[in-house]
Amino acid sequence: MNLFEAVYELFLPAACASCKEAPAAGSGLCEACEAGLPDAAVHLAVLSDTGAPPTVVAGAYEGPLAEALNEYKERGRRQLAGVLAGLLARPLEIVGAELPGAVLVPIPPTRAARRERGFDHVAHLCAGLGEVRRCLRARPRPDSVGLSRAQRREAARSSLDVVPRRVAALAASSRPVILVDDIVTTGATLSAAAAVLRRAGMSVPAAVAIAAAE
Ligand SMILES: [Zn+2]
Repeated sequence: MNLFEAVYELFLPAACASCKEAPAAGSGLCEACEAGLPDAAVHLAVLSDTGAPPTVVAGAYEGPLAEALNEYKERGRRQLAGVLAGLLARPLEIVGAELPGAVLVPIPPTRAARRERGFDHVAHLCAGLGEVRRCLRARPRPDSVGLSRAQRREAARSSLDVVPRRVAALAASSRPVILVDDIVTTGATLSAAAAVLRRAGMSVPAAVAIAAAE
């Protein structure tokens, strides 16, 4: 734990990240909400963007899982990283078993989101779960509010780019890539990520995420 985190923990909100009422345990959730997280089963996400690789998730984006993800992501409550990394580990274990030697490539935040949050929230969760290669970077993108579905898809398609020097070494190694994201909806971002990595010579057979939203 660095100094910033140590100071932050002193001022941690004492309430559960989900119900916002009961006192939180060390995980950031109260016992009842923690019991309301998805069980150990994993699910194949139903994605409308057919360019996305098959994507396995820990659960639906609802209930305590959705609340915990929001508090972690939008309010920077890093205390929740343990619970969320635990959930991410489940689909990753299933997918990783099929893809020996795979590396994890997290979907990067936009530069603006990273600045606001102060950290790369998906990469932070991946840290203890495998070999992480941060070889994607976000390109500046317009605010998606008010965009049509087709415009959103187009925005997602041009939202990511590779980090050339990192991607070259990875492509030469022939190791498969497992994309990692927090929430998937249509799969447009995963599709865009897979497309730029494949164009750079990589194999992207699968993706994992914590939650799937409708
Ligand atoms: Zn609670």
